Amino acid sequence: MRIRQIPIIPRMANYCHVVIDDDAGVMALVDPADPDAVLDALADETATLTHVLCTHHHWDHSGGNAALARRFPDLEIVGSADEAERIPAITRRVSDGDRVTIGGLTAQILSVPCHTKGHIAYRFADPEQGDALFCGDTLFVAGCGRFFEGDAAQMHHALNTVFAALPDDTRVYCGHEYTVSNLEFAAHVDPDNDAVARKLEWARAERDAGRSTVPSTIGEEKTCNPFMRVAEPALQKAMGATDAVATMAALRRTKNDFKG
Ligand SMILES: [Zn+2]
Repeated sequence: MRIRQIPIIPRMANYCHVVIDDDAGVMALVDPADPDAVLDALADETATLTHVLCTHHHWDHSGGNAALARRFPDLEIVGSADEAERIPAITRRVSDGDRVTIGGLTAQILSVPCHTKGHIAYRFADPEQGDALFCGDTLFVAGCGRFFEGDAAQMHHALNTVFAALPDDTRVYCGHEYTVSNLEFAAHVDPDNDAVARKLEWARAERDAGRSTVPSTIGEEKTCNPFMRVAEPALQKAMGATDAVATMAALRRTKNDFKG
């Protein structure tokens, strides 16, 4: 499995990820919201495009589906059965536990509603390099998506039951480059966490050099991401909460108003 990352829609700091099976000569696009930018970037690829893997219905993730479907009539466009009516050009509706095969690769569907009511993630097993998780706007490096169509209990389940159960070396490919601002917030609410301070310094240097900070790993998120540390007494105290779900809710509210 080979993975490429294409920055698209600069004002939204979006990433489209490309999953390529070189042996089978096929590839899949995760959230290719700007088809022209994506296809330009892939001009050097010989693999055949067979799948679009859509994480959720927001336009900056699904907005390229219709144009790609017109251009590639055999394209399989995969999306959540729980919000299929809002995903343009969807051809395959999937639910938790379903599997999607791309050449010799297999993605397992993880249902993680909250940011949107049918948000899904795609998990590819890769024993050599570590599994790869494409998680859209549910989990970000050191942050998480807004709770547009769900609540704190659902996000707690998504991050701290579903994703936290994945192996620590699972690579986390999220949908946006929000790492620096997320870590500034993490440093604010979790000031004694040295891992946050170190990662913030690293992330600023990477961005200054024009490089991406994505992917991280599940293991790193457990040490740096306040939304995956809601069971920590220090964070609960900082949020004035006494349980994980209330801490999740308070973190999200505080982050929504955080100006850095
Ligand atoms: Zn979104």
